[in-house]
Amino acid sequence: MPLMKSWVTSANAQGHPFPLNNLPYGVFSTEGTDPRPGVAIGDMILDMEAAEADGLITLADYPLFDVPFWNELMEEGPAVWAALRARLNALLAEDASERDKVEPLLVPMAEAELHMPFAVSEFTDFYAGRHHATNVGTMFRGAENALPPNWLHIPIGYNGRASSVVVSGTEIRRPWGQLKSPDQDLPAFLPSRRFDLELEMGAIVGMTSDGPVSVEEADDMIFGYVLLNDWSARDIQAWEYQPLGPFQAKATATSISPWIVTKAALEPFRVDTPERQFELLDHLKDAGPMLYDIKLAVDLAPEGQPATTIARTNYREMYYSSAQQLAHHSTSGCPMNVGDLLGSGTISGATKPERGSLLELSWGGKEPLTLDTGEERAFLEDGDTLTLKGFAEGDGYIIGFGDCTGQLLPALDDPYKR
Ligand code: MN
Repeated sequence: MPLMKSWVTSANAQGHPFPLNNLPYGVFSTEGTDPRPGVAIGDMILDMEAAEADGLITLADYPLFDVPFWNELMEEGPAVWAALRARLNALLAEDASERDKVEPLLVPMAEAELHMPFAVSEFTDFYAGRHHATNVGTMFRGAENALPPNWLHIPIGYNGRASSVVVSGTEIRRPWGQLKSPDQDLPAFLPSRRFDLELEMGAIVGMTSDGPVSVEEADDMIFGYVLLNDWSARDIQAWEYQPLGPFQAKATATSISPWIVTKAALEPFRVDTPERQFELLDHLKDAGPMLYDIKLAVDLAPEGQPATTIARTNYREMYYSSAQQLAHHSTSGCPMNVGDLLGSGTISGATKPERGSLLELSWGGKEPLTLDTGEERAFLEDGDTLTLKGFAEGDGYIIGFGDCTGQLLPALDDPYKR
């Protein structure tokens, strides 16, 4: 499919992240107005609350866009998701007949503040990238036992905290926690010294389930995708994680990009999962191409300094798709909800510059990176700004995600001595 042209001419510019082919969903406000749903088209945002109030969008007998999140639309199900996309195409395409009614409802993106695009019901994070799991396993257990015995049979995950998910641009505060290095006998309560990022994609569940779902059904349930940074305190994690997995190490914050890129926009970019070392059991078997060819990058900018790209990889490096993760999540009968967020797990490629965390890039801190500014980094320093970037490249257009950024602020004074 080539570039689809819009009368919003900025959307037709070569390499613009938000052409008519994309139409991602966000929540925005302008000075003095309340947050409301909007659709990105070029350098503009279509005000969905206003479009619905004006009768340009009528998908239900009741309003879906008078709330500051996209969950109400998700709850209508895939037929309505498709109807909305078709209607937006009709309103914004180059030859649209209702252009004069739509034009006054466009807001310049430069004047908008972006908010969380959906209400997160629950957050689950996975460990489903083979290169990442192999790298981390090699560091902690040696190359022989890098992958745990279950790894090639199930997507390993843990239940995270919906309350800690924040939108791009939110500042992140270095956490305190209980730490114990191997050469110490007893733990100490200190600010994390090994604070890190994890480059991930987030899949947003748009339908409920009550009981096990197949991989195919799970793929139908996914509404869209965002970039996701699972901020991680490696030293807190190393001490706390056995035997129940990460807890406070992952609970400081998880950042997501502000625009939900729909599954429909990503349809041309579907790719297969990698070759299977063991055949997966029936309930996890691949049911078609359910990964996506999405180019990803991580930029690190020390405070007041230019950014260095520290990693470049691709979402197609995952071993398990989000649909397989969602199917696995439901096997016990666990009910899934509209607004559930599934983190893919850290995405790393086969080579060193493709590693999606500093833990891997600096090999546990032993091989610090040299940034373009000449500074070295093993883990994040106070004031560093991390930016995840992602796009799918089509025939003469791209599907952009919008940046997922966050600056690390210094730890506060000991929170228990105030
Ligand atoms: Mn993670």
